[in-house]
Order: sequence, then structure tokens, then C-alpha cells
Amino acid sequence: MEYPKIKIDLEKFRKNCEVIIKECKEKNISVTGIMKSFCAKPEIAQIMVESGISYLGDARIYNLKKVKHLNVEKVLIRIPMKSTARDVVIYSDISLNSELEVIKELDKYARENDKIHKIILMVELGDLREGILEKDIMETVSEVLKLENIKLYGLGVNLTCYGAIIPTTENLGKLVEISEKIEKEFNIKLEMISGGNSSSYHLVENKKIPKRINNLRIGEAIVLGRETAYGKKIEGTYDDVFILKGEIIEVKEKKSVPSGKTGMDSFGNTPFYEELGVIKRAIVAVGKQDTEITGMFPFDEEIYSLGMSSDHLIMNIDKSKVKYKVGSIIKFRLNYEALLKLMTSEYINKEYVDEKLIKIEFCNY
Ligand SMILES: *Cc1c(COP(=O)(O)O)cnc(C)c1O
Repeated sequence: MEYPKIKIDLEKFRKNCEVIIKECKEKNISVTGIMKSFCAKPEIAQIMVESGISYLGDARIYNLKKVKHLNVEKVLIRIPMKSTARDVVIYSDISLNSELEVIKELDKYARENDKIHKIILMVELGDLREGILEKDIMETVSEVLKLENIKLYGLGVNLTCYGAIIPTTENLGKLVEISEKIEKEFNIKLEMISGGNSSSYHLVENKKIPKRINNLRIGEAIVLGRETAYGKKIEGTYDDVFILKGEIIEVKEKKSVPSGKTGMDSFGNTPFYEELGVIKRAIVAVGKQDTEITGMFPFDEEIYSLGMSSDHLIMNIDKSKVKYKVGSIIKFRLNYEALLKLMTSEYINKEYVDEKLIKIEFCNY
């Protein structure tokens, strides 16, 4: 029961961590290693720590709990739910925030637990996901500074997530400008100015990142070896740390266009089928319950995916030089979305490989 499985090359992952941490360090930027794409598996997070990551971050407290034993500060990167304020204070050292009401709740539980909880205030700079509007920042800061068990640790921004706004010297410059205005007005020092995610990495490579930006929260660049403003590969990194291996369960020559009266597919869509006559097709045992078809790229470039249902991936293998048969394995590179889902799926075995095989995490079937 080995397939489908995701093979995780920990040595390649280590190399990716090292390249990105070094490049950021040269510009005095600390890296928060974002774990969501690999569900904060401790085996992988540990390599981030060994490579010199400064913080570990995740959107979910559930994941931060898994890496409790690793000795770096933990950052909750999705602004917290008010109902979870108690756990936020217990399982994270720093959280990103934009709602005063929630910050007050964090203050209450920090006091109860005899802790000082650090917060990063998120600023809205165009992408329209989380963040305080510029006009409201001074007022919010003034309120936050009244809270005894909250430390205003810095400011942050998130771009290229909802609005597809690319980080530039200008918008990150704005974040610095606001930070310095706060420092002057309230006579405080902001320790962290967090300039975004993997989409800000191109500014580090091109030496265009404003000087006072001293932190980035990076997931995809480490995991897939590419920056995400333009999708460029990062030199010296690997794009195949994580690969999916699926097993072929049927190989047959069939027509490319279905026969009969056309309705909707199993997910309510009306798909398009290209007329190619009779083609050699394979079915791979993996499906929508595990992953996302648009994010899977076969190593064999002469084959491609035709469609996917809950548990079946249908591929055109007609032009391949490889003689695929039942039981053959097809390997795929992955994008972030496909990876996120595969790592989350309990139907996918996870195989951790060092120089040698170190561990297989089997699902429970
Ligand atoms: C997911 C996320 C990140 C990391 O994004 P990548 O594109 O994986 O680098 C950083 N910050 C926040 C707030 C996030 O939600």
C-alpha cells in the first residue's frame, strides 16, 4: 500500500533553506519559515531550524502545537479568531493582528498566563486582505500601547495574496515610512518590520528592498525554490523537494471524446474534450480528494492530465516513449496548491528521504 505517496527530499529542502536564509541574512533580514504547505510536519520544520531560520510561522494554532518542542519563537500568521485568544497566547510568541478587539482579548489571556505577548500590526497597502487602513493606524497604536501584557513588536504587510499586488520599493517603502512615523510620535522602537511573503523575495535578490525591512515570512520560496511575484526559479535551489508518485491502475486505448449525450461531470461542470481520435490513456490512482489537477506537472513531458474525479486521474500517454503499463509509477512536480492538499490528505503516504530512506509515514488504511 505504498502509493500514492509524496516523496520529501530533506537534503534538497535543507539546501533551499540555506540559500534563502543566507541571501536574506546578507541584507539583515530574518526569515520566518512558513510551514502551512507541509502541515508543519516536525521532521521538515526541524530542518528549517537547523538551517538557521529565525522564527517558525503558521496560519493555524493546530500546526504550531506540532512544533512546540523546536526551540525558536513561533508566529501565528493568520490574524487570530477572538475565540482562540487563549491558545494564541499559549502556543505562539508573536501574532499578526489587525483588530483591536482581538488584541484586547490577547492582552487579557496574556495577563492570566503571566506572559507578554508580542504583536505585529498588519497594514493594508493595496492587496485588500488583512490590515489596518493607514488613516486608522496611529489611533490603533495608541490603544495598543495602553495594554500592559501586549508588546507592539512591529508592523507587517501581506501582498500578492488576494489582490495580486506585487511588493515594490514603493509600497514597502510606505510600510517603513509609517513605522518611522509611529516610532517618532510614540517614542518607541519597532523591532520587526515584516515585508511580506515569498513575493517580496525578488526585492532581496535585486537589492531593492528598503533598508529597514528586517523580516520576511517565507514558505513557497523555500519549499518550491521560486519567488512568487514573477514565478522565477531561485538560483541554487531545487523545485523537486516534494514529488508525487502515483500508480497506474488502467492503460487502454480509448477515444478522446466521450460518447453519448453530454451532461455535467461528477463535480457539476461541463468539460471540453479535444478530438484526437483513439489515444492511449492511463488512469492513476489519485484524485480531487487529495490534490489539485492544475498543480501537477509530470516529469515525463510527453504525457499530460486530461481530467480528474474524486479518486481517478486520467492521462493522455499516447505520445510518450515510455511503455507504461498497469503498476507503473508516474512522477509529478507540484505547485503550492497541489502540495498543500497532498500534504493535508490522509490518503497520501509521506516518505521522508535523507541520503537514505529515513521514515515513511503511512496513512491508516
Ligand atoms: C501564507 C502566508 C505567508 C507565506 O507565503 P508564501 O507565499 O508561502 O511565502 C506569509 N504571510 C502570511 C500572512 C501568510 O498567510
